[in-house]
Amino acid sequence: MSVLITNIGELVTNQPERDADPDPGRAGPVAGRRAADAAHEVPGPGGPGRFAAMAGAALVIDEGRVAWTGPASRAPAADEMVDADGRAVLPGFVDSHAHLVFAGERGAEFAARMAGQPYRAGGIRTTVAATRSATDDQLRANLRRLAAEMLAQGITTFECKSGYGLTVPDEARSVSIAAEFTPEVTYLGAHVVPPEFEANPGGYVDLVCGEMLDACAPDAQWVDVFCERGAFGRDEAAAVLAAGQAAGLRPRVHANQLTAGPGVQLAVEVGAASADHCSNLTDADVDALAGSDTVATLLPGVEFSTRHPYPDGRRLVDAGATVALATDCNPGSCFSSSMPLCIALGVREMHLTTQESVWAATAGGARALRRTDVGHLGTGARADLIMIDGPSHAYLAYRPGVPLIAGVWRAGERVA
Ligand SMILES: [Zn+2]
Repeated sequence: MSVLITNIGELVTNQPERDADPDPGRAGPVAGRRAADAAHEVPGPGGPGRFAAMAGAALVIDEGRVAWTGPASRAPAADEMVDADGRAVLPGFVDSHAHLVFAGERGAEFAARMAGQPYRAGGIRTTVAATRSATDDQLRANLRRLAAEMLAQGITTFECKSGYGLTVPDEARSVSIAAEFTPEVTYLGAHVVPPEFEANPGGYVDLVCGEMLDACAPDAQWVDVFCERGAFGRDEAAAVLAAGQAAGLRPRVHANQLTAGPGVQLAVEVGAASADHCSNLTDADVDALAGSDTVATLLPGVEFSTRHPYPDGRRLVDAGATVALATDCNPGSCFSSSMPLCIALGVREMHLTTQESVWAATAGGARALRRTDVGHLGTGARADLIMIDGPSHAYLAYRPGVPLIAGVWRAGERVA
């Protein structure tokens, strides 16, 4: 059954320019839109992708895909019609970084941090203890609740990491439960060295690269490592990524969160899809990201929740790096699943334009997951889209903290 969404105030498509509708019968208004709205199309950071939007638009969904986009006045008929009444429609958000397999919560730690105590990587161990003592059903129920929370707020694709089990069976069940909810599953056995290996961190790296990897690889797509002082150093991180790659997993890295360490350079060297956090970057790090396909994934909810300085998104975009925004939803350093919050922080605190920030939360996230079917609304894209209570994408930052998500479609089905 086809669905026509019409009277869209602003339709954000993120179509690469070369994919714009070539039909001359329809090209007039598109070209007119380009001329009138040139400032409205900005190059997607670091590549051919672009933030692109058109006013007075319509979109047709058929068989779970975007079948047509164009001026509302020329929209074809469909089985069903939705009147957007001037609201904006955007691609569903693509959250390329989240830790959702866990038990317990750390609200008291957050409160203590806001009262002046510093954030340390070792706080992860609190959640590890709670996760190990939870049942499979408790972990599954928590993940189901968080996935529903994300979807209601417009996240139609999310990545999910393990990393709070840190034993072979606890990591294996973490990736297995995650795989029930998303295809983008990341093995993060190298999140932190668990307490029982404190005196033997090398032994833990061997476990992560050996038996634990063997148990997790069948349910995972990605391998990740927290490369940071207090977690894993450069050589240990490199060993984890190499072992994961040998097992068929693709690399991504928690890099340069707390210090300007070796994580970003390592991510670029191994061809990681993404270097995540990027909160402390040298000029050489920025150059390395700009000269690579490794996406710089910024997680401003973490800076918000740890009261650390925000990374300079403007510096990355201006250098030519590809930037994504993700939530990093986790019970310790950022317990928020709100992509609109990330977009608003991207604009307000990281000096991205509203277009760049929305692009980073949609097309940027898709790049960080190496996905071409989501993050844009070009013809043929999966029909993952959101309608917001406002006439333009800018409302996501212009009206921070306001629940603006008025409709969510995933693979063509209206789900919220
Ligand atoms: Zn993380």
